[in-house]
Amino acid sequence: MRPTARPLAAVALGLLLLATAPSSTDLRGFTAESAKAEREWEAKFRAIPSPDSLREYMRRLSARPHHLGSPYDKANAEWILAKFKSFGLDAQIEQFDVLFPTPKERVVELVAPTRFVAKLQEPPVPGDPTSSQQVEQLPTYNAYSVDGDLTAPLVYVNYGVPADYERLERMGVSVKGAIVIARYFGSWRGIKPKVAAEHGAVGCIIYSDPKDDGYTQGDVYPQGPWRPKDGVQRGSVMDMPVHPGDPLTPGVGATRDAKRLAIGDAQTITKIPVLPISYGDAQPLLAALAGPVAPEPWRGGLGITYHVGPGPAKVHLRVKADWSVKPLYDVIARIPGSTAPDEWVIRGNHHDAWVNGAEDPISGLVPLLEEARAYGQLLKQGWRPRRTIIYAAWDGEEQGLLGSTEWVEAHADELVTKAVAYLNTDTNGRGYLFMAGSHSLESFINDVAREIEDPQTKLSVWKRRQLRAIADADSAAARQEARERANLRIGALGSGSDYTPFLQHAGIASLNLGYGGEDDGGIYHSIYDDFKWYTTFDDTSFVYGRALARTVGTAVMRLAGAEVLPYEFNGLAETVGRYVKEVEKLHTDKQDDTRERNRQIDEGVFTATADPRVTFVPPPKEDVPASLNFAPVDAALAALTRAADRYETAFAKAQANGGAALARPEAAALNAALLQTERALTSRDGLPRRPWYRHQIYAPGFYTGYGVKTLPGVREAIEQRHWKEADEQISRLAQTLAAETDAINRAAEQMDKLTP
Ligand SMILES: [Zn+2]
Repeated sequence: MRPTARPLAAVALGLLLLATAPSSTDLRGFTAESAKAEREWEAKFRAIPSPDSLREYMRRLSARPHHLGSPYDKANAEWILAKFKSFGLDAQIEQFDVLFPTPKERVVELVAPTRFVAKLQEPPVPGDPTSSQQVEQLPTYNAYSVDGDLTAPLVYVNYGVPADYERLERMGVSVKGAIVIARYFGSWRGIKPKVAAEHGAVGCIIYSDPKDDGYTQGDVYPQGPWRPKDGVQRGSVMDMPVHPGDPLTPGVGATRDAKRLAIGDAQTITKIPVLPISYGDAQPLLAALAGPVAPEPWRGGLGITYHVGPGPAKVHLRVKADWSVKPLYDVIARIPGSTAPDEWVIRGNHHDAWVNGAEDPISGLVPLLEEARAYGQLLKQGWRPRRTIIYAAWDGEEQGLLGSTEWVEAHADELVTKAVAYLNTDTNGRGYLFMAGSHSLESFINDVAREIEDPQTKLSVWKRRQLRAIADADSAAARQEARERANLRIGALGSGSDYTPFLQHAGIASLNLGYGGEDDGGIYHSIYDDFKWYTTFDDTSFVYGRALARTVGTAVMRLAGAEVLPYEFNGLAETVGRYVKEVEKLHTDKQDDTRERNRQIDEGVFTATADPRVTFVPPPKEDVPASLNFAPVDAALAALTRAADRYETAFAKAQANGGAALARPEAAALNAALLQTERALTSRDGLPRRPWYRHQIYAPGFYTGYGVKTLPGVREAIEQRHWKEADEQISRLAQTLAAETDAINRAAEQMDKLTP
């Protein structure tokens, strides 16, 4: 059995027990003897990372703009390589060649009823030296927008998500042949042009409304951390929910001689042209709209009455890019494992940015460098991890996870048999530890978090997060769970960073970690995300950078050092059970809502309650969803729960009496079985209409982008009212859970062999 919470007060007691005769070990997967050594090495490790080093690395790496393909991107890759080598690690650069369009022409202008030309330019800020490096800054644009040149009436579509278009339909407003203007937030940006094109729009403008990350939130830069009037969010709009990575080489590594698609055949380039603008540029456009007044929740923070259109505002939009293939530099360092070199623990953060990128990504990359430096020191003192540790600084993340995806695709065969886990970070700030990932690692990462000190409160970061969860709980039941559950729940991963190819394509157990929540601002993907901003408003003393290095570094050491991999499946089974309940409820809610709406249409509710002076189109009647048979999933879930229990029983037996059994040679076969348990959650043919995504428990939403859809096959079929597909996906899910049950039972059998 696992111990429950082990917060700071209990640590002294734990040491006391360890000092006497230990009856069982306190580090999952370690014998008592190796746990003692592990703890000593971990303590040495955690003493090494230094805030001063973090600050100096950040100053160097963010000194100039360093987007994919730029001179300083390459210079940074070479500097990181030299750092890894100077720490004593074996390191190299792996190059790929990827399609990355950079802007040649950008025009947004209002041509009627008045004329206004958008600036599309972020001005330098006095006192912020890097903000004036205009020659090297990538202009404001959305990468992978198709080229186009058109003039059309404008329509305001709020966040531009499917529900917003339903609302427009009720208002009798069509976007066919129009240019839509959507605001950032509410979905990942790439969803906005995709949904706009599905509804017949011919162009898309995305702007940052001050209500979301500008002056409505707080003082703007440089007085405060929020987005100034001319600040623009750059970003990729590739159709990442179909597949991330190089659009020309889906499924294979983009090596120099890889077979490439023609650009016209690439599936992830947008269907319509897109450009992002500031609220300074958006204001005259929005102010020129007439037509219905925007619904209350659509109104932003500009001092205007928000109208929807279409027209009389008419906009000219022109986008043209240089569509050349550019070199990409992943920096990869290796520490070979002493006893299990063919089991890999992989840890990564990207190094490329949109501009200077002090926060995104450098604040997450510099702890990674400090971890590597600390490992170099431990190696000199005699530390030898059992497993191989791979440290990666990815390039081309911002474009659509290019560096990590191409690396995973290029090394797919090895990763299938060797990868134990992937630990990702991407930006770091002041506040609370956030943990998301594979639920087989939930218990593991909770144990790590219990041992890391929060720099501000001196509580453990686990305890501070738990107290936050109690404060945030919206019901007595949620409060009770936050107080009593042994582990804090970890989030499920959608997309938005480099874990996606590892977890959702290759089926490698993954975690995404970072600190935040007290680091708000509005400089994301702008020239103002730089050293000056970060050291004025965010983790200014780099103590959370040090906390992140300690957290992730400890987790990597523990995964690389345990005799038996510390996966745990009770939390996985319980969490999947919650997801199953959610999709069952989603289905019955859909039935109830459709019935009720059809009834109201028959009763004449919509026509009677509409204001005759306001255009209102009542919704159409829809077929009530057919019933679905979830019995196969429920049965598979029960079997999964039994297998998880069986594994824990076998584990407890092996870990009893100092856990000497864990050190038996048979543990090698057990570990080989264990690292297939996450693979078992994938399916070879992947998800409907997007076979690159193979994981059957976690995926980015087809219409949310970053936002996760758990049990995506079943959930999205129900959401999109594909009833036949929902049926098929229920049997597919039942098969996946059965495969996972088999994989866990095989591991339990191997575990039993340790205690004959
Ligand atoms: Zn990032």
